[in-house]
Amino acid sequence: MPVNSRLPGFYKLSPGERLSAVAQASGLREADLSSLVSPDPDMLGIADRMVENVVGTLSIPVGIAANFTIDGRDYLIPMATEEPSVVAAASNMASVARLHGGFHTSTDLPIMVSQVQVVGVADPRAARLRLYEAEAELLALANEQDPLLVKLGGGARGIEVRIVEAAGATYVVLHLQVDVRDAMGANAVNTMAEALAPRVAAIAGGRVRLRILTNKADRRLARVRAVFDRDALGGADVVTGIVDAYRFAAADPYRAATHNKGIMNGITAVVLATGNDTRAVEAGAHCHAAAGGRYTSLSHYEIDGQGHLVGTLEVPMAVGLVGGATKTHPAARAAVRLLGVQSAQDLAKAVVAVGLAQNVGALRALAAEGIQKGHMSLHARNVAAAAGAVGNEIEAVVERLKTDGHVRLDKAEAILAELRATGS
Ligand code: NAD
Repeated sequence: MPVNSRLPGFYKLSPGERLSAVAQASGLREADLSSLVSPDPDMLGIADRMVENVVGTLSIPVGIAANFTIDGRDYLIPMATEEPSVVAAASNMASVARLHGGFHTSTDLPIMVSQVQVVGVADPRAARLRLYEAEAELLALANEQDPLLVKLGGGARGIEVRIVEAAGATYVVLHLQVDVRDAMGANAVNTMAEALAPRVAAIAGGRVRLRILTNKADRRLARVRAVFDRDALGGADVVTGIVDAYRFAAADPYRAATHNKGIMNGITAVVLATGNDTRAVEAGAHCHAAAGGRYTSLSHYEIDGQGHLVGTLEVPMAVGLVGGATKTHPAARAAVRLLGVQSAQDLAKAVVAVGLAQNVGALRALAAEGIQKGHMSLHARNVAAAAGAVGNEIEAVVERLKTDGHVRLDKAEAILAELRATGS
């Protein structure tokens, strides 16, 4: 049956009623969709308040990355991810870094920037300077919008005015820099940008179009460095192999995309577990990777005087402890409690530490035995389950898949059929 996507009044229904409506419109049975329904009715209500047109929730595994020492303190780090081997790799590499004191971090102040785009300005260069002359007035106006943030020690800190030459047009673009304290800050800075718009338009002598934050959060960088023990990594050749892998990523955008994806395996998992905006962090990270004009590796690797691997990573980190889902989602609140972080900057430090550990984990596997051995042996459980194995069958199928060396669905199905036929 063809799907009918016209659902008038859908948004007014309860989640349960919406599920029935979706089943009807799609021609599926409600039972086919029942896995979308949260077993926890409270969670369904929370989800219904978080986003629109809710019919259910999706559970993603949360694993705990162990062994992390960050700036001299131990952390248990929750990671929400659907990908096998990510949590294991982060934990393994944290234990290797631990031998040399763990991870050392630093962050910028939590400065987010919103942009105000002015079009149709007759004298863009003079307008730019007029806006700088009005900086104090504009900052005061911005701060009036968020007295709570100002009371907490945050608020608008400065402006920058850029002239952007676009196709067939010149824009005057005002950047408002705001210390958002423990918020991710998007709503906070967007509100300020909207409030400034009429004055900015009047001072610049043009019309304001967009008023929104930039996700290129390059005034809010988080940095991490760690020494990874040569012998625990597998010896001098593995260390050299990791540095070769890094140089490849630094030189080649095709490799850099995958290299950085490996970093984001760790970063996104912690960002998601704490209810933060994964897309905002990913946009910022990839934009930062291209900041020099060419997309390249976000991390860097060197070999120290003793032959150990030294890894460093610097990435924009727009994460918060207030606002967004961090406060509304009970699992996110539990994750933040487990982390024991008291500020957005401390959360950012834990996130980048996991990103670096994750990156070294992937590079070590690539430089040593190849990525598939570890990854596929962990992935084998998924494949066995996808083939229909249940209970004890899962381990039996996994063992055979690993012995045969082909972790594939067709192989798993054949093994399962054989096991069931022979009753073993
Ligand atoms: P928010 O507006 O819910 O909370 C921020 C406000 O909380 C501040 O303005 C402040 O008044 C108050 N506050 C209370 N205690 C605070 C503390 N200790 N530190 C700082 N502020 C404190 O949330 P937000 O962080 O401004 O916005 C985040 C949300 O915006 C996320 O859900 C994100 O997905 C969404 N968003 C993102 C984008 C984007 O990234 N492009 C665009 C729009 C919205």
